Amino acid sequence: MKKFRALILVFLIFLMSGCGKREYSKVEFLMDTVVEIRVHHKSKAEAEKAINNSMEEMKRVEQKMSCFLPGSEVSRINKEAFLEGKKTPLSAERRLPVSDELFSLLEKAVLLSEFTKGRFDITIFPLWKIWKFEGENLEVPEKVEIERALKLVNYHKMILKSDKISFAEKGMGIDLGGIAKGYAVDAAVRVLKKENINSAMVNAGGDIYVLGRKQGKPWRIGIRHPRREGEILGTIEVEDRAIVTSGDYERFFFSEGKRYHHIINPKTGYPADECQSVTIVAKETTFADGLATGIFVLGPSEGMALIESLEGVEGVIVSKEGDVSTSSGLVSKIEYVNQK
Ligand code: ADP
Ligand code: MG
Repeated sequence: MKKFRALILVFLIFLMSGCGKREYSKVEFLMDTVVEIRVHHKSKAEAEKAINNSMEEMKRVEQKMSCFLPGSEVSRINKEAFLEGKKTPLSAERRLPVSDELFSLLEKAVLLSEFTKGRFDITIFPLWKIWKFEGENLEVPEKVEIERALKLVNYHKMILKSDKISFAEKGMGIDLGGIAKGYAVDAAVRVLKKENINSAMVNAGGDIYVLGRKQGKPWRIGIRHPRREGEILGTIEVEDRAIVTSGDYERFFFSEGKRYHHIINPKTGYPADECQSVTIVAKETTFADGLATGIFVLGPSEGMALIESLEGVEGVIVSKEGDVSTSSGLVSKIEYVNQK
């Protein structure tokens, strides 16, 4: 009897530890950020194969969606989707064919623009080019330059029809920086699932998806404190969910004591200044990514109202003053460590 009990105990421990699964992981620098894939699985060989295929998939997405790689599909659109001529941009011969994959993502981006009243807008490219958050001695662009670029930023002037695109004005372009990392994470998770992985975490510089549970329990994900480097604001317990944070601390410079960062308000042409960070929890990383960026611009009050109105979407907003607000469905799942 004792032996039998001991056997049951061993079996229970085995079950609780995730059925003899071990953790395998890999870190690479992709999409201008650190990407980590962690997998819990019985077989080392299968786990490593799944992780490698998943990383390859993210590289494929980057090659297609980056506006900085001259050979990408997005760069081609930015070069060729405006055609001069008398015909309107709506006429078929003036539209450029887009792959099915990118076309669906562009449609999703438009949906996100609608939800966020135009605060998320991938036609931000002309503004993004003049702000250039890269290199040293960064400077605030001239006001006239911003005003000129601002005229070219408007998703209504990006015409998507029958798998084709055209821009209504010369100089327009798209930048998927606010959504492509999330899309790459979803693509990576699809590969993991196909490889029979059912417990994993994919993290592309703060754009996270957790698949299944971790050793029988929900995953516990830390949300970074927007003003205290190396510290967390709190932790969330989740499974089969995307957790994406947009913050003003990712890429920024100071000029005359003011912080200028990489999330631009498409209505003003200047960095959005209503929030320090926005975390979105949703079913899809693509959607969570775009929403986090858009709500960052929208600000805490309209942003939280939008979160509450969307089914399956939860979030945490840290306002410019450092005040933290939590959506109703997240209150029981979040544990704050440091507020303010
Ligand atoms: P991160 O890259 O730090 O995760 P986000 O997902 O918030 O941050 O995206 C910021 C990026 O999105 C910028 O680097 C830029 O490429 C692009 N972007 C900036 N402002 C906007 C905006 N208002 N709408 C859509 N994309 C934006
Ligand atoms: Mg984003």
